Amino acid sequence: MSTIFSKIIEGSLPADIVYQDDHLTAFRDINPAAPTHILIVPNREIPTVNDLEDGDEALAGKMLLAARDIAKREGIAESGYRLIINCNKDGNQEVFHLHLHLIGGRSLGNMVKPAK
Ligand code: 5GP
Repeated sequence: MSTIFSKIIEGSLPADIVYQDDHLTAFRDINPAAPTHILIVPNREIPTVNDLEDGDEALAGKMLLAARDIAKREGIAESGYRLIINCNKDGNQEVFHLHLHLIGGRSLGNMVKPAK
């Protein structure tokens, strides 16, 4: 099922797109968690990580390499950043079109709060 991200990818919904090619689109998160917060999204509608296929190795790799390149362009490669993919309910996924969050520009602290 299409989500809002497909509209951004096809250009019918505005977004601050920082990178686009035949496979991926990357744009700034509308509600940034840090000074740099970019979503790296496959153009194909893949709902979650669970829906990646064995033949998607190249696409999955391209997402990581895009993160590397965008981090460098954003000037956060050396200071560091975090890459996150949320999946389904426990992962708190809100938009069911696979996306890699690239977050940086400030110290991000611990990855996940310890359970009490
Ligand atoms: P998730 O929780 O699914 O991993 O992350 C979804 C992300 O998409 C959230 O960080 C949210 O702020 C972002 N988002 C939701 N709707 C829009 C939108 O219309 N435009 C942009 N640029 N980001 C969005």
